[in-house]
Amino acid sequence: RAKENGRGSTCFYDAALDAALREHRRLEQALRLALEQDLIDVAFQPVLSTETRLVTSFEALARWHHPAKGPIPPSEFIALAEECGLVEALGTNVLRRACDAARSWPDDVSVAVNLSPLQFQTGRLCETVRSVLAASGLRAGRLQLEVTEGLLIRDVERTFQQLEELRAIGIQILMDDFGVGYSSLSYFQRFRFDKVKIDRSFVETAPTALAAQAIIQAVTQVGQTLGMGVVAEGVETEEQMQMLVSLGCTHVQGYLLGRPLVESMVRDFLHANRGMAKRLAAPTARHD
Ligand code: C2E
Ligand code: MG
Ligand code: MG
Ligand code: MG
Repeated sequence: RAKENGRGSTCFYDAALDAALREHRRLEQALRLALEQDLIDVAFQPVLSTETRLVTSFEALARWHHPAKGPIPPSEFIALAEECGLVEALGTNVLRRACDAARSWPDDVSVAVNLSPLQFQTGRLCETVRSVLAASGLRAGRLQLEVTEGLLIRDVERTFQQLEELRAIGIQILMDDFGVGYSSLSYFQRFRFDKVKIDRSFVETAPTALAAQAIIQAVTQVGQTLGMGVVAEGVETEEQMQMLVSLGCTHVQGYLLGRPLVESMVRDFLHANRGMAKRLAAPTARHD
């Protein structure tokens, strides 16, 4: 045992590793419990049409408030869920919560749910989505599923098959975080995504960086030709907003337009948005 080696650095290393492992296991246990007790919450962030300024959808974002540690960022607990076999349960909980919430919104407002690549590995995804939709009574056309490039690294054919099957039900498929990692324009040859979401890193620099502008414009041109909407993520300033509109983005999402909201705030947000869009609207904008 390392302990018997006295004060060697391996001893400290082992102790630190041991503590980290124990902490990891405790966090895993807490997440398992939170899932069993349905304590993973969902926040809803608005996505607006640049043309009408109306909210067209909300993105469902998982939230976990750890009883002792407070809020844990999704990047952390989703990675943890993926590691310890909990991501299917987590994904299904979020999907169910999102569809139940959306059921009470106006019929022209959709909900977008993020999927982990691992949810495509089980072979149960389509069946799960069908049954959640049926239980909630949400029309399939009001559900959007967001996938990332990680999805397309292995088992590409089986993955595309599942995407086709989901699409056939009427669900919209969105490519998330486009332009970073291994995401590639070639995916658009293989599958016609309904929308592509341009990663926040391009949006951030768009007002001053010519390269970011050129990339966004290239994507919006591809989108226009192929009939794919283009959503800009992470819009924080008016300057970015103007740039994104002029580059042809069809939709915007970000703190400038609205932060992720607790479910009970969605109705008020929609109400205010519709009032505001009506005042700003071009005569062609639709409003109900
Ligand atoms: P994402 O799908 O790209 O979601 C957008 C992220 O950007 C969210 O972070 C959102 O809060 C944040 N965001 C939105 N507008 C702005 C802005 O103007 N500025 C900045 N700085 N950030 C903005 P969040 O909620 O921390 O989620 C992070 C990531 O975790 C998500 O990125 C998604 O990949 C993943 N995630 C969240 N919920 C789920 C889930 O239910 N399932 C899966 N598989 N992944 C999820
Ligand atoms: Mg997303
Ligand atoms: Mg994203
Ligand atoms: Mg992102």
